[in-house]
Amino acid sequence: MPLHFKAAVLREAGLPEPYAQSRPLRIEEVSTEGPRAGELLVRIQAASLCRSDLSVVNGRRAWPMPIVPGHEASGVVEDTGPGVTRVKRGDAVVLVFQPQCGICPSCVSGDAYLCSPGLQANRSGGLLGGGTRLRSGDSPVHHHMGLSAFADYAVVSEASVVPVLDGIAPEIAALFGCAVMCGAGTVLNTAAVRPGDSVTIVGAGGVGSSALLGAKLAGAERIVAVDIDPARLETARQLGATDTVLDEGGNGAAQVIELTHGGTDHAFETAGTLGAFQTAYHAVRRGGQVVTVGLIDPKTPFSLDVAALVTGAKTLRGSYIGSCNPQRDIPRYMALYRRGLLPVDRLITHRLPLTEVNTALDRMASNGALRQIIQP
Ligand SMILES: [Zn+2]
Ligand SMILES: [Zn+2]
Repeated sequence: MPLHFKAAVLREAGLPEPYAQSRPLRIEEVSTEGPRAGELLVRIQAASLCRSDLSVVNGRRAWPMPIVPGHEASGVVEDTGPGVTRVKRGDAVVLVFQPQCGICPSCVSGDAYLCSPGLQANRSGGLLGGGTRLRSGDSPVHHHMGLSAFADYAVVSEASVVPVLDGIAPEIAALFGCAVMCGAGTVLNTAAVRPGDSVTIVGAGGVGSSALLGAKLAGAERIVAVDIDPARLETARQLGATDTVLDEGGNGAAQVIELTHGGTDHAFETAGTLGAFQTAYHAVRRGGQVVTVGLIDPKTPFSLDVAALVTGAKTLRGSYIGSCNPQRDIPRYMALYRRGLLPVDRLITHRLPLTEVNTALDRMASNGALRQIIQP
């Protein structure tokens, strides 16, 4: 018997803002035959909205339609397909947007964030086992990043979950699936910030704030937050930024250089704009490291002064999922949260039902939120 449930379905990308009016995400009934071999049926307990969901809706990143977005979530395993060994019915799990096949060269070498079968499955809008498990009537509906969590249930590969440690609430667990790895993970893993280092974080949204928490945990001596919004900078200060810079007309990097007498050891672009990337690039000191994580629109033209890269001896890095191995790093980050060292609960600014997901998109588009928890 197929299971029928509610999901937020996107049938057309690029509808105009405000989304509360154009309603790109419609709550529809979808169905699934349930999990196949190596797969799970998960009842979603909490999902949170990420800027990447917005890029699905506004069409910045192309996905097969129709699709159910939502890639940062947690839930409880309700059913398991044949051969599932990693979890059992009743387990609380974090959903992870990069399946970890476990046997490709990247997974075997510990670089699960580079799992190529996982990436290919994600790009197809299907699961690691091939194809989609969601239907609307007789038509297939695609998965977002192997998950599709803006729904009452999700069918996912067991390679897409990590068990939740005891004592962590569902809405907190959800954050570990994307925001924590992409923000704190980028600082701790990709950049390997050390005690005493200085850091600039350009963009004080959800991922930027998570990066800020990571920089604090790493023992960064100076943490400069840069944003175009004074309210966000106030929040950044409360989260542990030692300095804040209001970027007005692109002068953010010049302010950082003046504040820090030449720029910081590391600079992170977390806003997903070319302007933020340029600010990060120029705010880093000679010999420093620039890390970009924000997913700038792929159509954005870009030129780089390569000679300055040489004479500045800068390192330029992209960070995907904070270079994390989810099975290794999510439990570590959850343990750090439980000890009060990584207070990711402070990223949650709003809670709302799934029926209000379009309003949450508007709030994300206008930079009015860090993380908004969506409950079925
Ligand atoms: Zn995300
Ligand atoms: Zn793999």
